[in-house]
Amino acid sequence: MIEYSKNNFKEIFSDAIELLEILEKNSYLAYFVGGCVRDYVMNKSFYDIDITTSARPEEVKNIFNYTIDTGIKHGTVTIGYKQKYYEVTTFRSESNYIKHRFPEKVEYIGDLSEDLKRRDFTINAMAIDKEGNIIDFHNGLEDIKKNIIRTVNEPNERFDEDALRMLRAFRFSSQLGFSIEEKTFNAIKNNAELIKYISIERIISEFKKLFLGKNNINSFNLLLKSEINKYIPFFEHINESNIDFSNFKFEQIIYYFSDKHNIDLKEITKLKLSNSEIKQIKTYYSINDNYNKYSLEQLVYKYNIDDLLFIDNLYLYNRSEDIKNINLPINDFNAVDITSQEIINIFSDKPKGPWIKDKIKSIEDAIIHRKIDNKKEQIIEFLLRKDIIDNE
Ligand code: ATP
Ligand code: MG
Repeated sequence: MIEYSKNNFKEIFSDAIELLEILEKNSYLAYFVGGCVRDYVMNKSFYDIDITTSARPEEVKNIFNYTIDTGIKHGTVTIGYKQKYYEVTTFRSESNYIKHRFPEKVEYIGDLSEDLKRRDFTINAMAIDKEGNIIDFHNGLEDIKKNIIRTVNEPNERFDEDALRMLRAFRFSSQLGFSIEEKTFNAIKNNAELIKYISIERIISEFKKLFLGKNNINSFNLLLKSEINKYIPFFEHINESNIDFSNFKFEQIIYYFSDKHNIDLKEITKLKLSNSEIKQIKTYYSINDNYNKYSLEQLVYKYNIDDLLFIDNLYLYNRSEDIKNINLPINDFNAVDITSQEIINIFSDKPKGPWIKDKIKSIEDAIIHRKIDNKKEQIIEFLLRKDIIDNE
């Protein structure tokens, strides 16, 4: 068994310990469970404290003043206590999973051991009582010591019940820097196709956590090795990854792979990303298309510096120093010493049309390339002069 120190238990769980005491005073069993226990024994900080109890949701609601029915169907009630929120879930077992994800039957049960059995990995299946004693029926502590992710009980069965667990394995491996135990990994290979049953939103949410993890490169390569990506839109087109994307943002990773493997925009649409994520990915395409067509001034004027530096580094364009050193007299049209109405007034005989946009662009170009100063008389003079030349 791994050594862990109970010394700081009271500081770390602080007010939450009172919740266990209150439940116990009302003659129920109650424990901390899941991620907070795992992170606690690993000396890692955590945000959420989950509690598991023999009290039924209605009973939990009777005991505490501030409760929210966050997942009452599955036995979860959120309690607000001393400025913090806690998820309190009744001991339950699950059976007859439908479509490899949803348990048909959720049954409330009287003891902790059945509840721990339904949990995905040994490292997530530990509980702690109010004194700080660890309950570890599935040797989670040992697996933490060995740095491995292993399912609770037979992996093939556990992945067949709920296929999302396969992606959770890679996500935890990335976050914790753990490897995936051999039988568990082989079961992922065997059951990979079942990931088709899982909604793309849940899949993407796991990928995002995986990409943010400290072991993201290795875990993503391991995921590719399992070939589970063959059953996931977009990712099915990736057969290898040899770039260090450890510091890339999610949109940058998606952009990089779509460009590298010529993956169609339609495939990206299947990932149901947010509008702002799609916009960001399109921006990277736009920058790369224009990188050699625009002057540095035009690039810096049109795009965000971080986006430009990302593209510059990715394709080794080697202009990042120049980009950083550029200092433009204006950052957008609002800073230009003329309004679009004033431009329209100057050419009052012209009907409104796309020419206005063109004029604005030529003014901006002249100012950023320092051909004229950002001063109204100079801008007007420039407009009139240019109009004559354009009409010649
Ligand atoms: P995180 O730090 O990312 O929140 P976590 O371990 O708390 O990690 P959650 O997704 O919040 O993960 O789930 C809380 C606990 O519920 C897990 O530790 C695990 O015991 C259990 N659990 C969650 N999802 C599943 C699942 N799909 N199958 C089995 N058990 C699960
Ligand atoms: Mg959690």
